[in-house]
Amino acid sequence: MDGFNSNPEEGMNLNSNSGIPAQPVFQPQIPMTPPQAFVPQGAVKKDGPLPPFTEQQIRSFRHKAEMPIYIAMVIFNLLVVSIALIGSFLAFFDVGPLTGKSGAMINQLILGIPAEASAHIEILIVLIGLPLILMFAVYLYYAQYRANAIRITEKNFPEIYEVVEDYSRRLGLKRVPKVYLTQENGVMNAFATFILRRQYIVLLADLFEVAYLEHHDLNSIKFIIGHEMTHIRLRHSTFSYNLSILFAEYLPILSSALSRCREYSCDRVAQQLVGVSGVEPMLALIVGKHLYKKVDIEDYVQHCRETRGFFVFLVNLLSSHPIMPKRIQALLKDHGSGRLFF
Ligand SMILES: [Zn+2]
Repeated sequence: MDGFNSNPEEGMNLNSNSGIPAQPVFQPQIPMTPPQAFVPQGAVKKDGPLPPFTEQQIRSFRHKAEMPIYIAMVIFNLLVVSIALIGSFLAFFDVGPLTGKSGAMINQLILGIPAEASAHIEILIVLIGLPLILMFAVYLYYAQYRANAIRITEKNFPEIYEVVEDYSRRLGLKRVPKVYLTQENGVMNAFATFILRRQYIVLLADLFEVAYLEHHDLNSIKFIIGHEMTHIRLRHSTFSYNLSILFAEYLPILSSALSRCREYSCDRVAQQLVGVSGVEPMLALIVGKHLYKKVDIEDYVQHCRETRGFFVFLVNLLSSHPIMPKRIQALLKDHGSGRLFF
């Protein structure tokens, strides 16, 4: 569903059972706020596996605007469906205000359907057809990855599989999601997505192979996996969630704001899971898989501070992911909610 658009410690320092990094406390390289004692719940492992996150912890990691915007979009979605249903019902029986010119206008404005004599049938086709098209598309998409990807298992990249198992337990997932590894001509991305009742994760191999083989940067891979698994935990990658805002996704400002909230939420949980800042995989998205280890973070943070103004605001406003300066500043801040608009 989303690009991870989502860190790092030399060496594959996984513990035997859980994939917990050896580094116990995350110290942001260049704190954006006065340094605070940030001890990610996911970073300390002294005696045995870490306990799962509590509901309260998960709630505290979520971006503060995520649920209010989501609820507003669900209400909008319900309104659209209700108006369409009532409209088509009244149009069918040729009664009510939606059968005349005002009805034609409402149908056209809200659903983009010309309110002719058969408009009620078209509305019903859209209401039933769109979810069916969505279902068909997600199964086709899933088949494509099953047919063209390697699945991460106990035998294929077992240390990564261990991480997925451990994060599933700590996030309280009912089942361990399948993770597929495939390459897409140099595209660097990862996403969590869904079929009807299950979710899976796709990792594109480009960053994975360099981080894994060249930099031995297991923490970046773990951060990406943690971010995507959080999309599953927070139910962003479920059929029902996407259905609940299906029509509201057409609201330009609100839908992109909700998407940015989701990314901030998943970044924050991934930080807690892995115990690292998560800045390096972001830098990889900016400068690529080889160069990200060479970036001077302090200098980049200065660049982040200077990246402002109306047009920068506009780029962020229309983007499904927070622009990198805001996202990296939120990661370095290591607590609270990232900046959604300004
Ligand atoms: Zn994401």
